Amino acid sequence: MARIIILDELTANQIAAGEVVERPASVVKELVENSIDAGATAVRVDIRGGGIKYIRVSDNGCGIASEDVAMAFERHATSKLRTANDLERGITTNGFRGEALASIAAVSNLEMITKTEDSDSGTRINISGGEVMNLCPHGAPTGTTITVKDLFFNTPARYKFLKKDTYEGAAIAELLSRLALARPEVAISLYSGGDKQFATTGNGNLKETIYSIFGAAIADNLVAVCYQENSVSIDGYIGIPAIARGNRANEILYCNGRLFRSKNMTTALEMGYGTRLMKKQYPFACLNIRVAPWAVDVNVHPQKTEVRFAEEVKVADALRHAVADALAEGNSIPDALLSAKRQPTYTPAPDPEVQQILAELRVEEPKAAYERKTVEFVQKPVLNDADLNKTTETPSIAPEITHTEPVKASVVPPVEELTPVDLPQETPQEIQPAAGNREFDHMDYMGSLWNTYLIFQRDKDAILIDQHAAHERIRFERLLAEYRRGEIEQQQMLFPITVSLTSSEYAAVFSYSSQFESLGVDFEDFGKNTIVVRAIPTNADTDNFPETFVYMLDRLMSGQTVSAKPETFLYKIACTGAVKANQRLDRTEIDRLVEDLKTLDNPFNCPHGRPTAIKLTLSDVEKMFRRIL
Ligand code: ADP
Ligand code: MG
Repeated sequence: MARIIILDELTANQIAAGEVVERPASVVKELVENSIDAGATAVRVDIRGGGIKYIRVSDNGCGIASEDVAMAFERHATSKLRTANDLERGITTNGFRGEALASIAAVSNLEMITKTEDSDSGTRINISGGEVMNLCPHGAPTGTTITVKDLFFNTPARYKFLKKDTYEGAAIAELLSRLALARPEVAISLYSGGDKQFATTGNGNLKETIYSIFGAAIADNLVAVCYQENSVSIDGYIGIPAIARGNRANEILYCNGRLFRSKNMTTALEMGYGTRLMKKQYPFACLNIRVAPWAVDVNVHPQKTEVRFAEEVKVADALRHAVADALAEGNSIPDALLSAKRQPTYTPAPDPEVQQILAELRVEEPKAAYERKTVEFVQKPVLNDADLNKTTETPSIAPEITHTEPVKASVVPPVEELTPVDLPQETPQEIQPAAGNREFDHMDYMGSLWNTYLIFQRDKDAILIDQHAAHERIRFERLLAEYRRGEIEQQQMLFPITVSLTSSEYAAVFSYSSQFESLGVDFEDFGKNTIVVRAIPTNADTDNFPETFVYMLDRLMSGQTVSAKPETFLYKIACTGAVKANQRLDRTEIDRLVEDLKTLDNPFNCPHGRPTAIKLTLSDVEKMFRRIL
């Protein structure tokens, strides 16, 4: 029978450590929060080996008096909370559980050097696996430096649970950037293996802090939020819709300066954007929600990343309004979803001559004008039979063609009568067996509409081909075949493309080199959160490649792999390099397009599932003109 024993201090600390210290990033979080609580105006973090081997946090805060140093490492030792009463009054400092230092010291080799302003000498303490090895006077400037080495060296189960250095390092970069955004008045910097990852100025300006961390691509595309409603105020910046990403990583929310996650608030934020965001697109946001301390419970989760508002609905409403108001105020580009409005997320190569050439090469994107036009088409009222009968003037029967709707809804009237060339609507993403390719035989080219839809006549059918969708499909199938053979055809870049990344993207990007390589993308480190792309798949679009690269990196960082689903990545490459809508093709290009379509397994859908071709039969047209009923 097991006996009840009282855990010794060390064991208790190791168990507690599991709660507070999950990974290197949690160590950084606790230490930097302590630094900020100590009134530091500058905090520098150095890591090696993703923080597993080495974390050092130096601050210029108040320091710890030598007689208190040992005590700071005891469980429940804190200078921040005296009684349970304090808890009720609401806590404004970061930590108050008083177990971070004890927990970290229990599972690492830790050294702290600290000095207060009014003492002449500082103190050094060394603790290994929770045991104090050394405590002595030590010269030091005012402030505290804590070095944590060999995390989890004495708890192998936890050590095993750690991910690769690059992931742990990326987690630290992300975490620390979130802390820095919460405290623009504190200069926070991160160095990994001696290389600067980012450094904020600490001048109190949030927009400049965002710039220091995310770069110009984001900082130049922000809308200020400043909202006050009764007991809730919301401040910060949100990104224009064009800089939205495929995941929620950049939805950064604080409550009274503390980072938190909440499904309700995330939803409210996205609702504030309304229809400005496409499906599965998530905005950039860096917002601080301020409420009275008693109106929020921050102690829901041991790591305090969740909060519960006393008036959850009211706060969510305020957030939604704050975002909607800011976007409506006109300092955002209203139709920013249009891809031509996207700011390039890269900096051109530094050489001025190269820049000149690049500028000349970068042709105006015609897509925006085109998309705006299609919006007009869509908004035309759909004529029903009654309208057709009573009308005296020629009714507009211009096919209501949208760029995104499936074919069924895209042709007027009578909708049911018009059939796509094949029946791929059920499972549009699936590759169909090579069956109906004869459909493209014996077609006579008649002309094109809006430089977008190619019209062919074949016997009693008219066939409309969407040139962009068709070319996309051709490129996609070729790329997929090349990928499966393990040899994506590459073009070396005459002018290498530089791509600027966020610090967490930069920290992670090199661990994906081989996956990018399998996609035909070779890149190298260019320093300062940038990489330079040396080779890309043949015919991929160079102008938009930085965007394509970041898109793929996003997917990889969210855990997807190329080998598991190469399609995801190849779609993107295929799409950006395809001929555009509104782009004039000459006759040889058109013939080539049709010949290529015939060779495909599935020539009927673009990789996104939209049709590449639709068919209008003679009887369809005759019905429209009421020649037959
Ligand atoms: P808590 O932060 O919850 O009080 P910790 O274990 O994180 O508990 O820290 C214990 C105590 O050590 C703090 O209350 C504070 O007095 C002191 N301390 C920790 N880090 C620092 C620092 N960087 N500068 C000054 N004092 C510190
Ligand atoms: Mg603490």
